[in-house]
Formats: sequence, C-alpha cells, structure tokens
Amino acid sequence: MDSNTKYKRAVFPGRFQPFHMGHLEVVKWALERVEELIIVIGTAQESHTVVNPFTAGERMHMIREALKWGKIDLGRIYIIPVPDILMNSVWPHYLKLFTPPFEASVSRNPLVIRLFKEAGFEVLIPPAFGREIYSSTRIRKMMMSGDEKWRELVPPVVAEIIDSIDGVSRIRSLLGGD
Ligand code: NAP
Repeated sequence: MDSNTKYKRAVFPGRFQPFHMGHLEVVKWALERVEELIIVIGTAQESHTVVNPFTAGERMHMIREALKWGKIDLGRIYIIPVPDILMNSVWPHYLKLFTPPFEASVSRNPLVIRLFKEAGFEVLIPPAFGREIYSSTRIRKMMMSGDEKWRELVPPVVAEIIDSIDGVSRIRSLLGGD
C-alpha cells in the first residue's frame, strides 16, 4: 500500500475494560488509514470479573459515547461485540461471521498480530500512545485502590457511565471473589 492508499475497512479488536484515551488515539490514528473501522469488543461473553468487569453492552455504550465526545464520525465506525472461541487459529475468520468484510486489522497485541498475519490479513500497528499511563489494567488497579486519578485517563463520558453503573464499587466487590 502506498502512503496515499487507504484500506476500505479494518477491525480493531480489544477488551476495552475500560475504553481509555489511548484507545481513542488508536481510533483516530486508524481513521487516517482506513475508510471504515470495525471496533470489535472482544471477550463479549465475560463480565463481573476482575479483568473483565464490564459487560459487552456497557463497553459498547462507553465506546460510542467516547467517540462522540472525541468528535469521531460515527458514520465510519461499527462497534460489534464478539465472544471468544477456544480455537485461536480460526479466530480472524470467525470474526467475519459478525462483521462486514475487512482487509486489515489494527492491533499492538502480539497474539492478535500473529493470528491476523497467519490468516493472510494486513496488520496496521499503531504507535503506543502514552502506554505507561493509558492502560486498562492500570485504570482498574487505580479504581481498586481508590485512586481517583483514573478519571483523568478516560474520556469524561466514560467516567460518567462507570459512575452510573456503580462500576468502581463493582470492581472492588470482585476482589478476592474472582
Ligand atoms: P485491550 O487491552 O483493550 O487493547 C486493545 C488494543 O489497544 C491492543 O492492540 C492494545 O495494544 C491497544 N492499546 C491499548 N492501550 C494503548 C495505548 N495507550 N496506545 C496504543 N495502543 C494501545 O484488548 P486486547 O487484550 O488486546 O483485546 C484482544 C481481544 O481479542 C480480547 O478480547 C481477546 O480475547 C480477543 N481474542 C480472542 C481470541 C479467541 O477468541 N480465540 C484470540 C485472540 C484474541 P497493547 O498490546 O499495547 O495493549
């Protein structure tokens, strides 16, 4: 692909537990390279665990509101929840059951990159956007420890949604019981 060519459509898989400013920067970066972006909410079957506290529906709500807040053209975005499967090697093809056709994927996750490459898809690897700061794992740990600064790491609308579902209390209640 030369630097002026855009892909028609790419998938951007993530757990988005929760969706944060780094994810938003990846979306903006990807939209400079693809006409349409399919945000796949992975591990859609799981919620109410320490690593996956939020439901797929809650994550979809957070992502859509975050994109609106970030002035992203929603006409170029799909948000699609997909449950995991046990067969990694067929996962990129399995995604096609749920999504419109795509030519490429956007990811920094080493397993995801390998699976898409082995399945014959192009992979666009975004830069790390403040990766030490913008990390869902770090945000969940801050919530667990009562560090209110997690709010600075997510779009304000995401914090509002987490507050509306009593998300921090949910995460704390899962500690020790997961
Ligand atoms: P994630 O932690 O939410 O991250 C989503 C993507 O955003 C990753 O590529 C991540 O790269 C990137 N990212 C996060 N913060 C960033 C930042 N500050 N700057 C730039 N990039 C940033 O989700 P994930 O764990 O990668 O999600 C993969 C999903 O695919 C999971 O739901 C997994 O279960 C699913 N999956 C399923 C199968 C299967 O069903 N067999 C197989 C493979 C994958 P980093 O690597 O830097 O975090």
